[in-house]
Amino acid sequence: MLLSIIVPCYNEESVLPLFYDAIRPIADQLLAEHAWESEIVFVDDGSRDRTVELLRDFAQRDARMKFLSFSRNFGKEAAMLAGLEYCRGDYIVIMDADLQHPPALLPKMAEIMCGGDYDCVATKRSSRSGEPPLRSWFARLFYRIINKLSDAEIVDGACDFRLMKRSVVDAILRMREYNRFSKGIFGWVGFRIYWLPFENVERAAGETKWSFWKLFRYAIDGIINFSTAPMVISSVMGVLFCLLAFLWMIFIIVKTIIWGDPVAGWPTLACLLLFIGGSLHISLGIIGQYLGKAYMESKHRPHYIVREVSAPLPYYEERVYVPDHR
Ligand code: UDP
Ligand code: MG
Repeated sequence: MLLSIIVPCYNEESVLPLFYDAIRPIADQLLAEHAWESEIVFVDDGSRDRTVELLRDFAQRDARMKFLSFSRNFGKEAAMLAGLEYCRGDYIVIMDADLQHPPALLPKMAEIMCGGDYDCVATKRSSRSGEPPLRSWFARLFYRIINKLSDAEIVDGACDFRLMKRSVVDAILRMREYNRFSKGIFGWVGFRIYWLPFENVERAAGETKWSFWKLFRYAIDGIINFSTAPMVISSVMGVLFCLLAFLWMIFIIVKTIIWGDPVAGWPTLACLLLFIGGSLHISLGIIGQYLGKAYMESKHRPHYIVREVSAPLPYYEERVYVPDHR
């Protein structure tokens, strides 16, 4: 059995040596305990520091280490996809390079997987302690909204740190969308999932690449990629306004017939105009978001461009370079 460990890295020079030291004994342990060979596939997401040099060095020192390097920063979603496409393991696990996903958890995950009852062992954060309160609040709100709106189950606190069988990864690879929201994709494919809670740990070194606004955009993208409910909401709003306007019109006509038409009420009109104008723009914006996504999907661009690989696979070109429009 081969285990592929996929590690997206973006400007991680400070933490990669620590990761290298941490993962090697775990790979040895997995070999001893479960007879799982390991390959570690680093995906350099267009880093601008010494990440690639480090990865080249790793690949030379340890035959289990492989890497792909992108031509520019394509984002973590693209990096995970590239790793999943490139790897050949029977089991596949995705981990962050910053040791926030403790490699020490892997043997436990492997044990659960070998129990045979589950297709996927996923981790979730047992608490949000250490996170800014505002961010936690938004995160909870996001999960509540998206689970109401979408049919993919998206678990609060779920991490990308998950051990999957080949069948699960093959299912994920069949989802070819350009706008990738992996939390939704993982939930959408289903399968039997074991949820393993773990205590959130601080990044070992370096800094996070996620600002509050990047996270906010990511959340909006998630909702738009996995639900069309916002468009329904904007149509319902339209119908409601029309109804209200119609009732009001009757009221005004009756009022004018009975009491005549003293010129009054234009501030009300101005307010109404502003309100309706505003809500129209919101609706247009929502539709525009979907249109934008559809536009990007219709271009069929590749998800990423690879600049360098440690060792090309025989079927590598077919699998990685040529975009696939299934
Ligand atoms: N990452 C990436 N491309 C990006 C941003 C991040 O490959 O554009 C990687 C990063 O190197 C790390 C993982 O994704 O291994 C998680 O990133 P980070 O630790 O910054 O996120 P956080 O843990 O704060 O959510
Ligand atoms: Mg991190």
